[in-house]
Amino acid sequence: MSNAAGSPAASARPTFELREAHAHIFQLGRSLRMIELSGCRSGAELLDAFAQARQQNADTAPLLAQGARPESWNDPDWPSLAAFDRVTGDSPALAWCFDYHALLANSAMLALAGIDDQTPDPPGGMIQHTPHTPHTPHTPDGHLTGVVYEAAALHVWNAAPEPSKTDRPDLLAAALQALDEFAEIHDLKAQPWLGPVLNRVLPEHAPDTRVVLYPLLEDLDATLATRSAWESDNLRLGGAKVFVDGTLNSRTAWMLHPYADGRPDHPQGTPMMTPEQLEDAVRRCDAARLPLAAHAIGDGAVRAVLDAIEKVGPRTPGFRIEHAEVIDAADVSRFVELGVIASVQPCHLLTDIEALRKALPDRLERVLPLRELIDAGCVPGRTLLFGSDVPIVRADPADSILAATARRRGDMPACEAITPEQAITSNEAWAAFGVRA
Ligand SMILES: [Zn+2]
Repeated sequence: MSNAAGSPAASARPTFELREAHAHIFQLGRSLRMIELSGCRSGAELLDAFAQARQQNADTAPLLAQGARPESWNDPDWPSLAAFDRVTGDSPALAWCFDYHALLANSAMLALAGIDDQTPDPPGGMIQHTPHTPHTPHTPDGHLTGVVYEAAALHVWNAAPEPSKTDRPDLLAAALQALDEFAEIHDLKAQPWLGPVLNRVLPEHAPDTRVVLYPLLEDLDATLATRSAWESDNLRLGGAKVFVDGTLNSRTAWMLHPYADGRPDHPQGTPMMTPEQLEDAVRRCDAARLPLAAHAIGDGAVRAVLDAIEKVGPRTPGFRIEHAEVIDAADVSRFVELGVIASVQPCHLLTDIEALRKALPDRLERVLPLRELIDAGCVPGRTLLFGSDVPIVRADPADSILAATARRRGDMPACEAITPEQAITSNEAWAAFGVRA
């Protein structure tokens, strides 16, 4: 993540209360305990960091690391799988690349994830092999290198052993401490156990913080059944979350038009829900008097959510679209007409500028149209909310303020801004982080 410090947009913080509208609190707690690789300048230093961590850990404890920047090393290759296995042994081990689009896994971790030499690439992901013979996506040859990308990296991460239940309170307390500049935090994929554990952690570690939980729709019934036991003045169930598409970086966000460099099998990305499933999700939430929070990144997914809400006409307020990174011109005013909240994370623009130019060269003017959303009637802090998606990126509001006002990184010339017409003012951007009645 580019550092916003020193840029004109990193203006003084306001005195009103701030909200982080899209966080993953438990994952942040986990990431705070991971081995930090951002200081490593070579593959050898990465191996040293793991060797040190292994000495300090029990033999079987997983070794999880983040922050590797191979492209900034003199030799930009990840260490070999054999070398990584030598220092990590039988403990499952993985090292995330700083942007979470790739990771290096050892053999024990790959085995846990069920990946071997013959495993085909998953949709939206790639499993790297040694180049003994030319690699083609569907007929893997050569051997695993341990490096996996995008959806394959997420698959490996999901197979990593979770911290024990008894560690949860400490991890949550550390995460809340890291987010202590926010008066209100929304968790957008709340585990069914999160409410009960936060109910015990909040009074001691963050008594002034309000937390709002959005479990996955499939966990909603279980969460509804327990909510009376853990909801409090500063902890409540906010709604349910669904995933309507993938991500721009893996070209799996659901687009109205093909990507310039899309996947041959899915040139417009990969819808993850049908219109009928979406309407059903809207109905289920409305019946529980809760809003739906729909992950929709591409303009196709955004439209599908708006269509479902329009068709069903829920009576519950607060339905929201998470991310909404690309919005077709025809859909901007529908947010206001349908009362749908745009919950966006402008900070991602800072790291995605190059990828966006490659993927959407002729649709760049539709990326985060913040100026249009406000001009159409979205109210910052009420129906236009800012967040970060921490720990995917850091939760420093200055990053989103910079992205929303300058539409580029602080070290870029103004001419490289992505659609500067969509910039908003610093006051408007801070207001989108503000808690309004
Ligand atoms: Zn998220």
